Amino acid sequence: MSLPALLVLALAILLGLAAIALARAVATPRAPKAAPPLAESALARAAGVEDALSTLVKRATISYFDETAEDSPAFAGLKRDLEALFPEVHARLAREDLGDRALLYTWKGSGTKDAPAILCAHFDVVPADDAAQWAHGPFSGDIADGSVWGRGAQDIKVTLACALHAAERLLKAGFVPRRTIYFAFGGDEEIGGMRGARLVGEALAARGIRASFLLDEGGPIADGMLSFVDRPLALIGIAEKGYMDVAVEAAGAGGHASMPPRRTAAGDLSRAVVALESSPLKPSLGFTVRSFLGKLAPYSPFPFRVLFRNLWLFGPLVKAFFGASHTSNALIRTTFAPTMLQGSAKENVLADVARANVNVRILPGETGAGTLAVMKRLARRSGASVRPAHPEGVVEPSPESPVDHEGYRAIEAALALSFPEAAAVPFLFSAGTDTKHYRGAAEAMYRLTPLRQTAAQLEGVHGRDERVGISNLRRCEIFYERLISAL
Ligand SMILES: [Zn+2]
Repeated sequence: MSLPALLVLALAILLGLAAIALARAVATPRAPKAAPPLAESALARAAGVEDALSTLVKRATISYFDETAEDSPAFAGLKRDLEALFPEVHARLAREDLGDRALLYTWKGSGTKDAPAILCAHFDVVPADDAAQWAHGPFSGDIADGSVWGRGAQDIKVTLACALHAAERLLKAGFVPRRTIYFAFGGDEEIGGMRGARLVGEALAARGIRASFLLDEGGPIADGMLSFVDRPLALIGIAEKGYMDVAVEAAGAGGHASMPPRRTAAGDLSRAVVALESSPLKPSLGFTVRSFLGKLAPYSPFPFRVLFRNLWLFGPLVKAFFGASHTSNALIRTTFAPTMLQGSAKENVLADVARANVNVRILPGETGAGTLAVMKRLARRSGASVRPAHPEGVVEPSPESPVDHEGYRAIEAALALSFPEAAAVPFLFSAGTDTKHYRGAAEAMYRLTPLRQTAAQLEGVHGRDERVGISNLRRCEIFYERLISAL
């Protein structure tokens, strides 16, 4: 073929591809304008949930790896609070205390056709070492300036209070669910859930219970997350990254620092850390991110619709775009984060062993073993070795739950009735939750904290001045009311 003919052919292929891409984008129409939020008057029926949350926040149920540091009376007090706050729930649902940090409520359904649903939360919180600097004490439970203040107001006594408050109201109105609903609450999520969610997950498995779906804490209804989207995004976590701490170690001869060898343990370790940091793993647009972009397309301006609906063509461009910011980069890659460094204990002594901890978050579809093998290769070139830092090893990434599942649709429908202004999209959750203990107990697992939050408000989670606005809280309660009603 002659050169002009080749050029014409290339041009024709390019035009053809462009036409297909445009057609696919045009076939995805823009979503209608966002509906207004629920009016304040519609929130009155959830009134009282703020008092319930305030009561629960007052209990300093901080979980510690060292059990003796825990305030056991606070945990016992919280369980008594639940009985007092939700008498109908306690009269009509079976409650089991599976160990001292695990509560399981069973709300028997009227039918036998539908598989159960599990609604999860945890009642432990993280410490607040900067208590003196809070505007309202972390365990004050103050209701002030339109908010409930304190630890747990965002993470995650809030959903526990909302779910049980909604159940209490529905029970009073004579509601009976069609399918059985389990409320599963752990009291040690912040330290791994071994005394809480693990026991519930094991109990359900031992009874041969396989739920249709599970809902646990997760993404917020994010305000202002993407500048090109005109409404808040309810981020329904359909998958969770895996977790692994890796010890990177380099050995040296030790000895006095006055006559150092050409290479030291600290130097080798540093080279290994730099190698890990400067060799990011390959990006990948897996099922979760593809589902996210697919659902996001109708809420995005036309140029973004062209990109998101044509990942077959623009995948590399989208990867480059995501890779440019550290928050979106975490959605498409397994990440390495060096967090702790250790050399010798004295200024003038060379280290026998220099050690770093690298915190690794593993992308769904990849494995701990595969990631470790790559790290081993990178570290070896610098004279360092790697090994899992904990004997328990690795939390593998979760399976990716479907978005055409009845559980996903139920959550979407409840959101439309409680936060009609928001768009629900599937998302990859990059923090760990209790769901790892339920992998055998539910067909699909979703992670959502149904509260509208900006990035600034989210800093209250594990941070200072944790609080939740009362209107926001009542909308969250109505979300649970709508969700339970549909079960
Ligand atoms: Zn939490």
